[in-house]
Amino acid sequence: MKTVGIIGGMSWESTAKYYQWLNEGVRMRLGGLHSAKIILTSVDFDDIAKLQAANAWEQAGEILAGEALKLERAGADFVVLATNTMHRVAKNIESEIRIPFIHLADATAERIKAAGLNKVGLLGTRYTMEQDFYKGRLAQQGIGVLVPDEASREMVHGVIYDELCLGKVVPASKQAYIKATQSLVDAGAQGVILGCTEITLLIDQMDFSFPVFDTTRIHIEKSLDLMFS
Ligand code: GLU
Repeated sequence: MKTVGIIGGMSWESTAKYYQWLNEGVRMRLGGLHSAKIILTSVDFDDIAKLQAANAWEQAGEILAGEALKLERAGADFVVLATNTMHRVAKNIESEIRIPFIHLADATAERIKAAGLNKVGLLGTRYTMEQDFYKGRLAQQGIGVLVPDEASREMVHGVIYDELCLGKVVPASKQAYIKATQSLVDAGAQGVILGCTEITLLIDQMDFSFPVFDTTRIHIEKSLDLMFS
């Protein structure tokens, strides 16, 4: 089994899912007392959230690149960054380490293409929905992306930062997310990316009759495949 290096992300609510589901995945594959070989680094999200809001991506990128280097030096075989949003600084990380960096948008694109789809909706933070780093990466792979309207984007973003990252799961927000997801399909999306690693706390495939791409699960399954490759 290879060792996965995780940069937590960026709230510990999603980091905990990575830790739990990687271990469950190893138990499913190997049984008994087997557990995942993980090196985890975790930053203070409050620091990073302030840099996001201040548009100080370069500074945030330097911090995360430093965390990735710690993982490499500690013996990780590859690195995953447990947040879609901070893939905004993926290049900083990739240029700092020699071990592979497993890009979340690429792992997600692989799944979308395997499902035979080429037009999907995207829910995530405002940064992920509005900037080009994520949508552009999908577009490069022939995948068109629809995002919610301004009012829905504000709602989706707010629920992530004010509720999910604080571990709060609010039934009214679940209904609002289901509605926003359905609207994307009504607008022509063939499926919807849950493009924030905390969204899995609120909604998942069970809530929908069309395909949804849960980036937390996808990233973890991709990591498990690499750990056993
Ligand atoms: N985990 C989130 C994501 O996947 C948002 C929180 C963060 O900024 O890391 O985008």
